[in-house]
Amino acid sequence: MKHVTHWIGGSAVPGGSRTAEIFNPATGVVSGTVAMGGAADVAAAVSAAAAAYPGWRDASLVRRTQVLFRFRELMDRHRDDLAALITAEHGKVHSDALGEVARGLEVVEFACGIPHLLKGGFSENVSTRVDSYSLRQPLGVVAGITPFNFPAMVPMWMYPVAIACGNAFVLKPSEKDPSASLLMAELWREAGLPDGVFNVVQGGKEAVDALLAHPEVKAVSFVGSTPIARYVYETGTAHGKRVQALGGAKNHMLVLPDADLDLVADAAVSAGFGSAGERCMAISAVIAVDPVGDALVDRIVSRMAALTIGPGDDPEAEMGPLVTREHRDKVASYLDHGAAEGAKVVVDGRRTPIRGGADATATPGFWLGPTLLDHVPVGSRVHREEIFGPVLSVIRVSSYEEGLKVINDGEYGNGTAIFTNDGGAARRFQNEVEVGMVGINVPIPVPMAFYSFGGWKSSLFGDTHVHGTEGVHFYTRGKVVTSRWLDPSHGGVNLGFPTNG
Ligand code: NAD
Repeated sequence: MKHVTHWIGGSAVPGGSRTAEIFNPATGVVSGTVAMGGAADVAAAVSAAAAAYPGWRDASLVRRTQVLFRFRELMDRHRDDLAALITAEHGKVHSDALGEVARGLEVVEFACGIPHLLKGGFSENVSTRVDSYSLRQPLGVVAGITPFNFPAMVPMWMYPVAIACGNAFVLKPSEKDPSASLLMAELWREAGLPDGVFNVVQGGKEAVDALLAHPEVKAVSFVGSTPIARYVYETGTAHGKRVQALGGAKNHMLVLPDADLDLVADAAVSAGFGSAGERCMAISAVIAVDPVGDALVDRIVSRMAALTIGPGDDPEAEMGPLVTREHRDKVASYLDHGAAEGAKVVVDGRRTPIRGGADATATPGFWLGPTLLDHVPVGSRVHREEIFGPVLSVIRVSSYEEGLKVINDGEYGNGTAIFTNDGGAARRFQNEVEVGMVGINVPIPVPMAFYSFGGWKSSLFGDTHVHGTEGVHFYTRGKVVTSRWLDPSHGGVNLGFPTNG
């Protein structure tokens, strides 16, 4: 059985006796163990990173870029291997795992442009014979703490930019699907990244707490659920660190009566059930403005009936299992909550047939089929809470304004989408909706790598989003230099505040 280790100073480090089990979610069988790091492992990783930092900070931009280009090529060559590791531990289907690797690679490609991204400004003669220029310099050792649902892409939102900027990085991946992190570490070494610039500490809360308290860690990027994001933000900033902490989500799709209902139904099913709903940009609630509700529900139901649910390594499967038994049981419990609160269970995913098995909950593994709840009451648990599984809710409203209010009254503000053929309504929505990432006839509006990804309200603690320009700013500090080279007219002593003339 495999054992997933730490990666410190350029090599695998087995870790102590504390381990956790890794499961194959499609079968429910234990497939390996992962080291559960503590303060000593974090101290070793941070000290390897701190030792590597000065050399990497001083490596020329050309040298850093060459390493990034080689890493990009190696990752591209190993796409399938990475996707297979993700499928085996997360459960998502292979094509979906390939998709997350592709989106992560786009951030590496963005980071290859770091010489441009780090350019400062220069002003000649701000005062007589005095020049000013701005620099952006790396922070030192920085850390990334990542969730289970994108074991390759979410770390790749962080480390390509951090490393390109000249920092040394410590990754703490999810303990549920940790293997991708080690393959990425090996590929960094093969690409020529100096030992210690990229490190991995496996584990859970203990490792996170050690990173948050370590004085040498200057910045922490976190992606995960809202309660932990809030905790990481509060604890990290209390220790004087720069923190960006991305939290959970509850994403609504607002459907106006003039929308193309076939397009909407395709989008709702794709965005609701892709990756079994375990995406922070998944659509969880469809808000149908009267009178389209019934026609839309019919179209969604017919598309759901055609989905193939099965193990992620089955090429026919379109949706795999959930990540753990505990999570599956929690997601399934929302069917009962929904029914108790007055929603109508239109499709019950507990009874969905699984390829090669029986009904979802009777098949070994962590299965739940696509589920549809209609007439979900606004403000009910099913509506308010992040479910993070294949449960799609339909909410009926009578106007655009009522639908907008449902979205803006929510706790989260990660993603949203409007479906309409009315450009004026779409423009009004993009202006009025209190959400960080907005789609117009696009159900999963994940920004490209050269823009920044992040939500509003309880979906983000801190003020910088990840990757894009905001990512570069997060991993660097600004400095402004004012210089004067001696000349015969320096003017002597002057105790007044410097003014420019
Ligand atoms: P999680 O919050 O349980 O775990 C995230 C990370 O925090 C993991 O590395 C985990 O080991 C660590 N952790 C867990 N409990 C901790 C504790 N008590 N103290 C300190 N650290 C702890 O999240 P998850 O279940 O792995 O991922 C799913 C969540 O992530 C969902 O809520 C989803 O919306 C969110 N997510 C958000 C985004 C985004 O961009 N906003 C992206 C992906 C996932």
